[in-house]
Amino acid sequence: MSNTITAPAFDIARIRADFPLLEGEMRGKPLVFLDSAASSQKPQQVLDALDYYYRHQNANVHRGVYELSQQATDAFELGRERARHFLNAGSTEEVIFVKGCTDGINLVASSFGRKFLREGDEVIISAMEHHSNIVPWQLACEYSGAILKVIPINDRGELIMEEYKKLLSERTQIVSIVHVSNALGTINPVKEIIDLAHDRDIPVLLDGAQATPHLKVDVQALDVDFYAFSGHKVFGPTGIGVLYGKKKWLDAMPPYQGGGEMIATVSFEKTTYNELPFKFEAGTPDISGAVGLGVALEYIEQIGQDNISAHENHLLEAATKQLLEIDGLSIIGTAENKASVISFLIEGTHPYDLGTILDKLGIAVRTGHHCTQPLMDRFEIPGTVRASFAVYNTMEDVDKLVAGVKRAANMLR
Ligand code: PMP
Repeated sequence: MSNTITAPAFDIARIRADFPLLEGEMRGKPLVFLDSAASSQKPQQVLDALDYYYRHQNANVHRGVYELSQQATDAFELGRERARHFLNAGSTEEVIFVKGCTDGINLVASSFGRKFLREGDEVIISAMEHHSNIVPWQLACEYSGAILKVIPINDRGELIMEEYKKLLSERTQIVSIVHVSNALGTINPVKEIIDLAHDRDIPVLLDGAQATPHLKVDVQALDVDFYAFSGHKVFGPTGIGVLYGKKKWLDAMPPYQGGGEMIATVSFEKTTYNELPFKFEAGTPDISGAVGLGVALEYIEQIGQDNISAHENHLLEAATKQLLEIDGLSIIGTAENKASVISFLIEGTHPYDLGTILDKLGIAVRTGHHCTQPLMDRFEIPGTVRASFAVYNTMEDVDKLVAGVKRAANMLR
């Protein structure tokens, strides 16, 4: 039971108090928010930063000679520096602001694809990818004639590494893999994946959408070539994300989009491109988004990713244990190394019906295929109910989830 679980290493009440929306009610009941894998709530510090930016610093960046524009540029570039620090990238030249994780992956698939993918080449992804790390590569393959190869997974939802080794070949141009699965919670052995690819000089992209809210990510220690994540899942605003790329690749890749900001000179005969990272940032960027994201990343670092992981693991363990006591409940995704997500089904019930009853109890979970349809096909299921935890969730949330699921199961059967 929950009172046997060791207390978290930080003050959860203080953390919760930072998130105004969590104090609210939903359907007349205190909100139990268990859908942070889809999008996280925002702390007051981020809300304040956005408010301050628009009240005191708002102007376009990198253009004005006037003081206000320089203040906006400084605030925007501070966001970039904070993102660099968060990922431990070597330089802000390697930190590109994008709309989100999807946009970051599309940038690489499109630009790297145009430069390096040819007919008969191969791109390796895995069976547990989000659609955002499947479809951009399908498009790149369609344009280039390259072929998509898929690493299979076992019944626990872990990559079969022997199969990965077999797929790597002289035809492989890039490997693109999710760091933490949004549907299963599996933490993939990314260092091993990268090292095996690098043995053959193949670059690796990691989809970090679900890893960044929960784990310490160090792109230099990983030696990863590209790393993409979304601001809205790490307590930052929507519409902003980061693509880290090693300078050697970004230098070699053509621009993704054309427009203002990404150019050095333009004439009708010839355009030359701006230096990194601006070469990949066409048009006015999401300035306030970058400001808010920077504050959100600092917020995470102040709590400490190790503390966050430890706290969430307590919740995950307790929820897993208690949910499994419910008759007919099975968990999809039982990898040894998991983070923060529980996907489950109850025999004789539909995930959507379960989710609807939980909603009536004020419990927000996600139901459906979680943008991983090929993964659902692999398990021969239409979808799951997914509860996902963030730093602000409590054992009380776990208890309410378990009680709610029991009640819903009894009503539906
Ligand atoms: N990859 C994974 C693993 C995700 O969970 C998500 C979001 N559900 C994405 C990519 C796409 O993120 P976004 O929609 O913020 O671009």
